[in-house]
Amino acid sequence: MPETHPDADHELWDRALGAYLGFAIGDALGATVEFMRPREIAQQYGVHRHIMGGGWLKLPVGQVTDDTTMSLALGEALLRGGRTALQDFVAHDDVGLIRTIGDAYVRWLKGKPVDCGNTCRRGIQRYMREGTLEGPFNPGDGGNGALMRNLPAALATLGNDAAFEKLAMAQARLTHNHPFSDAATLGLGQLLRLLLRGTEPTHCRQWVSQWVEDNPSFRFVPYRERATAYVVDTVQTVLHFFLLHEGFEAAMVATVNQGDDADTTGALLGMLAGARCGASRLPMRWLDRLQPATVKAITEQTQGLLSIHDPHHFL
Ligand code: MN
Ligand code: MN
Repeated sequence: MPETHPDADHELWDRALGAYLGFAIGDALGATVEFMRPREIAQQYGVHRHIMGGGWLKLPVGQVTDDTTMSLALGEALLRGGRTALQDFVAHDDVGLIRTIGDAYVRWLKGKPVDCGNTCRRGIQRYMREGTLEGPFNPGDGGNGALMRNLPAALATLGNDAAFEKLAMAQARLTHNHPFSDAATLGLGQLLRLLLRGTEPTHCRQWVSQWVEDNPSFRFVPYRERATAYVVDTVQTVLHFFLLHEGFEAAMVATVNQGDDADTTGALLGMLAGARCGASRLPMRWLDRLQPATVKAITEQTQGLLSIHDPHHFL
């Protein structure tokens, strides 16, 4: 049985932690300017580049929003189920794990999160009422809520693409049933997985071009400068700025200054750019501003989620 080289393990750890912490940084930074127009941001902040709280949610400095806390709820459920529940789901369609995830979303909602999107709320309430694991197709389910919280699913299934797709779809469908939400959740998830494996930038770029060709609704050249919570706008914004700027900081500042759903576009940009650069290269001035409890929870989850998947014994 081949041993994994310790350096490779360390690089994976750094990239995975970079993705999750980068996600939280984007959430905390973007929340200040969520729902603002770019011109309003320019008038009020010049260029918005400091984690300072505030915004329409009147957040304390460094507090994250639903994007991060809902991801943590998914991560918690995956850790609770562990490898056995994941294997039972992937190999035998045992939906115990998906109920564990649904229950985690219910607890999250009952914990009065600072924010909750309408589609997420409606889906969680349906699960509470009916116990169903998805609702019917709904043309109004094209928001970015399912995509936004999917990072832990990618970490827990890192070596197995089929397991990732099955888990990502199931967690997404608990609240969103729309082909654009499905495509975006899988697409950004697959790109994240490539980055976590240390895939070359040129190859990632080619992968994105191909994905956009296969999913032309998400075409982002020329960029339309729309950064709303409609999942098409969200993905176009994230991919545009991710490929435009090589550095984490430049890509992040450009993304959140586009305003609108800035915490969510910031979080998803931070996830991709953080996986690209690794936790060790995240800007310290941003990392230091996150609330310590958030950093601790993310660090522990990253470690736990990566070890759910055993590269030698999975499925
Ligand atoms: Mn949010
Ligand atoms: Mn948002």
